[in-house]
Amino acid sequence: MVSVDRDNWGGNVHYRAAQIAAPETLEEAQRLVASSAKIRPLGTRHSFNRLPDTDGILIHLGSLPPDPVIDTDAMTVTVGGATRYGVVARHLEDNGLALHNMGSLPHISVAGAISTGTHGSGDGLGSLSSAVRGLQLIGPSGDLIDIGADDPALPGMVVGLGAFGPITRVTLAVQPSYRMRQDAYLDLPWQRLTDDLDAVFAAGYSVSLLTRWTAPAVEHIWVKSLVSGPIASADQLGVRPAPGDTPDNMNPFGVEGPWCACLPHFRLDRVPSLGAEIQTEYLVPRDRAVEAIGALRAIGEPIDAVLAMSELRTVAADELWLSPATGRDSLAIHFTFHRDPEGVARVLPEIEARLLPLDARPHWGKLFHAGADVLAGRYPRMADWRNLVAGHDPDGKFANNFLEHHVGGS
Ligand SMILES: Cc1cc2nc3c(=O)[nH]c(=O)nc-3n(C[C@H](O)[C@H](O)[C@H](O)COP(=O)(O)OP(=O)(O)OC[C@H]3O[C@@H](n4cnc5c(N)ncnc54)[C@H](O)[C@@H]3O)c2cc1C
Repeated sequence: MVSVDRDNWGGNVHYRAAQIAAPETLEEAQRLVASSAKIRPLGTRHSFNRLPDTDGILIHLGSLPPDPVIDTDAMTVTVGGATRYGVVARHLEDNGLALHNMGSLPHISVAGAISTGTHGSGDGLGSLSSAVRGLQLIGPSGDLIDIGADDPALPGMVVGLGAFGPITRVTLAVQPSYRMRQDAYLDLPWQRLTDDLDAVFAAGYSVSLLTRWTAPAVEHIWVKSLVSGPIASADQLGVRPAPGDTPDNMNPFGVEGPWCACLPHFRLDRVPSLGAEIQTEYLVPRDRAVEAIGALRAIGEPIDAVLAMSELRTVAADELWLSPATGRDSLAIHFTFHRDPEGVARVLPEIEARLLPLDARPHWGKLFHAGADVLAGRYPRMADWRNLVAGHDPDGKFANNFLEHHVGGS
């Protein structure tokens, strides 16, 4: 039995749920769902808001085995929903296979990550959710439901926000393993970024820019390249190589390695990021990226008063109904704030006032204010999603206040 904390990983949310259950078997999980009036799935608690929470029971499937099953004909792997990405990645690498992309940390569960549209960076790389080829869930009556690759409901259910019940198994597309290296640079002039944003993000398979908004130049540039392709030089980028060693909790810079030791910023066997932090993130359409950067630099001082670091990444469009990258290539603008809830509460409305008019969509797993009145118009399939939920869970067993406020009822 795994023990499940009542606080989220960032320490800014204490779950209100009456109970957090971690069933030891699938049958036990099914019985629990069937007998509960209100129940919501909980992953590794890496989200920063009340999206998982419920007044009823939180169910965490971390005691069920990962049991990865590779299908080399279909080029897929099927794993337990609560499996951490890093565990899946290691198993695939051991078998000469890979995922197309990973988030910045490998500690998050597969089901929890795909349920919020979690993404990495890369012009040609869709969100982690875009690799889903099938799901198995526990429905409201406790029955197991399989949703295959050709099921028309799959694109609606993948970024499911927990509203379809606990995902027990996830099938992901895989590809042959590949080797990469990541290089760290400093001081990309803002003007170069805004004049030539496409060239900057095309400098590697996966490019991340990390900065504070009052910095005289974009502070850190991390370029993750396929070793089979060209590797951009500092001169080409107009930056300088970063001196010094890689921090202990991060995957190493400047050396070649497998994809899974390069795509995530953080190592699975270390504590990632700051720990005591609050994150928020907005995805703006790629063609509004330069406007968004300018708008945020204009309020750089209040942002930086509470900010540890921002990160800019690119996400390729997908067709998943509630994916923040649905239908459009995007620039994802992320904020890691210090755990200062009052300070973050002061600056978040200012950020939303600048980014929401640019058609921004918030990351479902991070802190944001925009309600269903604003967000409904940003997702062309939002009404279809609500109808799908209503048909699947007519009594609202998997509903919660967060969904009511930010997504709205059917
Ligand atoms: C340090 C840090 C770094 C991060 N880096 C990134 C990043 O690089 N890119 C990015 O996009 N995001 C990032 N995130 C955000 C994170 O990926 C998302 O919040 C993700 O949803 C967390 O997954 P989880 O397993 O912790 O889910 P939880 O926070 O436990 O739950 C999130 C949602 O998933 C649902 N859920 C969980 N398990 C299941 C299940 N078995 N079945 C059905 N639904 C389920 C919950 O009901 C809830 O709706 C980061 C977060 C942290 C703390």
